[in-house]
Amino acid sequence: MSKPLIVITGASSGIGETTARTLSTLGHPLLLIARRVERLEALNLPNTLCRKVDITDRTSFASAIEAAEAQYGPVDCLINNAGVMLLGQAASQDPAEWQKMLDVNVMGLLNGIHLVLAKMRERKTGTIINVSSIAGRKTFDNHAAYCGTKFAVHAISENIREEVALDDVRVITIAPGAVETELLSHTTSDDIKAGYNDWKENVMGGVLAPIDVANAISYTYAQPQNVCIREIVLAPTRQQ
Ligand code: NDP
Repeated sequence: MSKPLIVITGASSGIGETTARTLSTLGHPLLLIARRVERLEALNLPNTLCRKVDITDRTSFASAIEAAEAQYGPVDCLINNAGVMLLGQAASQDPAEWQKMLDVNVMGLLNGIHLVLAKMRERKTGTIINVSSIAGRKTFDNHAAYCGTKFAVHAISENIREEVALDDVRVITIAPGAVETELLSHTTSDDIKAGYNDWKENVMGGVLAPIDVANAISYTYAQPQNVCIREIVLAPTRQQ
């Protein structure tokens, strides 16, 4: 029997890209979403629709899902992975950076949920996997707004999980610690970036690889539909 459709946001790099490769190997048709569509296409995965979508734009997000469903059937799993991390000191950070994180990490994630949840409830099956962060569980220097968005992701996830549990829809939160990806590169302060990189190399001795998180995502999804792993927090062993 053919496998059901999985949607992955932010699949053009890092955790999303590796998750796409992992789930494609398991035979799932995929809808991959990001702004850098050429990087999605370069993955060259079978049974995969790649769409240039900014997840803050509900209209293009909706039309990508519609096109994928026409080709591969209903969305069985949405992996809300796209996110941005712009670290800064609250007193000096440009509020436009806070807005960006709120728009992508919170509103973009809610947009995805809104686009698939009603049908999942109707079909009495489905899984939403929200990629939050250990920064959604505890605070860190220079992370005020980013932590705010990720604490919000935890709250949204858990609240919606309760809302749809009796329809047999699962809502899962994956909360990684530090992972080697492009995430830090968008922070504008060179001092903060240098400090983070120094911590990664000299205190941590390396951080998680995207495959570590992709494996956790894949494991939660692979459980029978009556088993909901509500949350996984995974971090480098040395991380506080
Ligand atoms: P990357 O920067 O490598 O990946 C981020 C992805 O999000 C990219 O594919 C990017 O694609 C996409 N993205 C960003 N903004 C938008 C947007 N507006 N619309 C659509 N796609 C967007 O970082 P990671 O792989 O590390 O990040 C993935 C998730 O993991 C994020 O939610 C992040 O917060 C979380 N996380 C990461 C940790 C880490 O240490 N790396 C730790 C804990 C959580 P494009 O630019 O092409 O649009």
